Amino acid sequence: MEAAKYKRVMLKLSGEALAADKGYGIDFDIASEIALQIKKLVEMGVEVGAVVGGGNIWRGRQGEDMDRTTADYMGMLATCINALALQDSLESAGVHTRVQTAIEMKEIAEPYIRRRAMRHLEKGRVVIFAAGTGNPYFSTDTTAALRAAEIEADVILLAKKVDGVYDKDPYKYNDAVKFNNLSYFDVIEKGLQVMDTTATSLCMDNDIPILVFGLDKPENIIKAVKGEKIGTLVSKVSCNK
Ligand code: UDP
Repeated sequence: MEAAKYKRVMLKLSGEALAADKGYGIDFDIASEIALQIKKLVEMGVEVGAVVGGGNIWRGRQGEDMDRTTADYMGMLATCINALALQDSLESAGVHTRVQTAIEMKEIAEPYIRRRAMRHLEKGRVVIFAAGTGNPYFSTDTTAALRAAEIEADVILLAKKVDGVYDKDPYKYNDAVKFNNLSYFDVIEKGLQVMDTTATSLCMDNDIPILVFGLDKPENIIKAVKGEKIGTLVSKVSCNK
């Protein structure tokens, strides 16, 4: 068995990660690829919690003329669709899973119960946390931070399109520089687009490291867990490029 740096991880996948190049909906080839990487983690003895976003289907802020709360509930429902898709891909790969939802929908999934989630993790089941925090005005990044704190995860693996955190948008600027390490405070003060401020401050208050890396190569998930130098680590340690 290969050595893992972390015993229990919280994997945050944006909804876009499941959409791949399509930008919208779910690409099941991508979902299967991600599932295979998660399977390897489980085989390494790592306990895996996962939060999937909903941006490939709906984000609250798209509902410009809508009541914000309603638009956000639509976003939370979108995360449930993605959670079921990921569950299906994982189960097809032979990985035992449970989906737990922050909004009760007991015909579809278990309600979120922390103690139960912990037990599933100890038994080697991947727990997918769906429906966000169950509250409007929050994001799935905040959900990942909250659930990571609750399940005492060692790290949040923040899988993104970009391969780390840059001082400016690397898609727009050729001279954008990637950070290897950043403190939570750097992220908030510099207004870096890592995760929203609520999520970052929750991680800061609870000392949960965030490893931001690119999902362009799904095997990066394994590298991240082995502690290989990829992406950007956001922790108490301050900024160096
Ligand atoms: N959302 C919410 N409360 C939560 C989590 C999510 O209201 O606790 C809604 C919000 O509208 C958000 C949408 O669900 O825009 C989808 O989540 P997010 O934008 O975080 O998905 P991602 O960008 O990671 O795909």
